[in-house]
Amino acid sequence: MSDYDLLVVGSANADLVIGVERRPAAGETVLGSDLAVHPGGKGANQAVAAARLGARTALLARVGDDAHGRLLLDSQRAAGVDTVGVLVGGAPTGVALITVDPSGDNSIVVSPGANGRLTPADVRAAGSLFRASRVVSTQLEIPLETVVEVVRGLAPGSRFVLNPSPPRPLPAELLAACDPLIVNEHEAKVILGEACVSDVPEDWARTLLSKGLRSVVVTLGAQGSLVASSEGMTRVPSVKVDAVDTTGAGDAFTAALAWRLGAGSSLAEAAAYASRVGAAAVTKRGAQESFPTAAEVASL
Ligand code: ADP
Repeated sequence: MSDYDLLVVGSANADLVIGVERRPAAGETVLGSDLAVHPGGKGANQAVAAARLGARTALLARVGDDAHGRLLLDSQRAAGVDTVGVLVGGAPTGVALITVDPSGDNSIVVSPGANGRLTPADVRAAGSLFRASRVVSTQLEIPLETVVEVVRGLAPGSRFVLNPSPPRPLPAELLAACDPLIVNEHEAKVILGEACVSDVPEDWARTLLSKGLRSVVVTLGAQGSLVASSEGMTRVPSVKVDAVDTTGAGDAFTAALAWRLGAGSSLAEAAAYASRVGAAAVTKRGAQESFPTAAEVASL
């Protein structure tokens, strides 16, 4: 039996949010609201989402030896994530500077900081975490060579799930390990590049499978998702909810799907559960604050 249902390897950021009437032009200063500081980053979000559902979860990440790093460690531990793999130091904790205008549109500047210092050597040094984990999930807010090293470090029989966000073209070695690759529309188009000749998600999935992927999930927001593998393709409907904030929905969906796959669910079953988790997450504001418990998912 594995010690962990899910090992998340990825980013941890402090999200610094200020509401503004309008964004400043070059050389201009505007006044904004009080500063709000939230734990974020796709890796940290996925780990909290899985742990809150009841998955035995570990996080492999790097934060700075600073107040933001401590905020991130505290939020992981409060959710029940094992932080033995969270490395401290080397650079300041990653930060996302976010301004939000009254219409809800945001502008974001990310300083990767310590996330950019999570190295292939860090992955190799965490071999015991890999051997103890049934499923390993990651994203692209850490260096690409580190994500490639994750694939090389997978224990026999463990499963790899990738949400390639922010998207960029991926090496064949990485694509071949994904089971599944989880993409939204924008990510699918960037990964496919010139091979994207259609606006139909089924065509994206077919082209991705032809590149050697074992399985693909395309998330379609309120339209649900599409799951595809050599066994066929199925649309998985979303759950109808009053959406107030979609921040973190993709992270919650990915974490839930990865966890259910490790528990033996089929891809379609796991996506159906993940849809309920994603739907629950959009009914509340924020990212980590919006992630549901298993009981909340059951009562949706
Ligand atoms: P991302 O945040 O990566 O763009 P999506 O917006 O596609 O991802 O959301 C991921 C999943 O969350 C969707 O596949 C769906 O199951 C759920 N979801 C997102 N938005 C809504 C919504 N408005 N209503 C219901 N479910 C939603």
